[in-house]
Amino acid sequence: MRTVRTVSEVRDALRDRVGRIGLVPTMGAFHDGHLSLIRAARDACDVVVVSLFVNPSQFNAADDLARYPRDEASDAAAAEAAGVDLLFAPTADALYPDGFDTWVEPGELATVLEGAARPGHFRGVATVCTKLFSIVGPDLAYFGRKDAQQVAVIKRVVADLNLPLEIVVLPTVRDADGLALSSRNAFLSPAERGAALALPRALEAGLAAHLAGRDTAEAARSVLAGERGLTVEYVAVADLDGPTLAVAVRVGATRLIDNVRL
Ligand code: AMP
Repeated sequence: MRTVRTVSEVRDALRDRVGRIGLVPTMGAFHDGHLSLIRAARDACDVVVVSLFVNPSQFNAADDLARYPRDEASDAAAAEAAGVDLLFAPTADALYPDGFDTWVEPGELATVLEGAARPGHFRGVATVCTKLFSIVGPDLAYFGRKDAQQVAVIKRVVADLNLPLEIVVLPTVRDADGLALSSRNAFLSPAERGAALALPRALEAGLAAHLAGRDTAEAARSVLAGERGLTVEYVAVADLDGPTLAVAVRVGATRLIDNVRL
């Protein structure tokens, strides 16, 4: 595996490669969710590129960006063990040099749920992913269902801008207790982690209600209301690359999202 930091190094490294290129965009602090995307890319592609970039433009709170977990050495070891060919770990200056002034602005889909809670978030996501697609030129790019609205936004961008790649979506990887893996889980105290388990329970209750023809969001809300250790931001049924029950909560200082396909 080679680690590179500049756009021209990526282009040089990929120039003579033949076969299908798979790209896995990440912000690092790898867990099994990331590794499931990397393994799927390794299975289907000849060349696997992983980007590791904590993208400042998708954070709307400076403290959230500052405390986002970073561990490039351990991520590089995990990527190498998973058979990654190229790790692209740019500096912020490499992707947003002085004078940078062009944005990919997704439409209505980016204004609800995560978009409403985090203004500008999807503009940052759409811009950085479009740049990564342009830099790497992948045939396939891999995303997790864990971020269902992100999947919907990226698919919209790819379709609307006629980008020549296929988006592959992989299921949410969960811990044995049901909590979706997330780099932010590292911030949870044991008590907070206990409270966070209401999230998968709420999704399960919502799905059961949906299948029984009852009110999906209401069933999820009532489970969350029974857990005093968290604050609900939203519970909603929406078309996020398919009908989805999506939930966002705060547990202490940590914001968690999860969803289930209906
Ligand atoms: P991040 O590093 O958080 O930006 O995530 C990079 C990619 O991994 C995104 O496509 C996420 O949707 C995906 N991902 C994050 N958590 C999980 C998970 N628990 N299961 C599957 N994919 C995930």
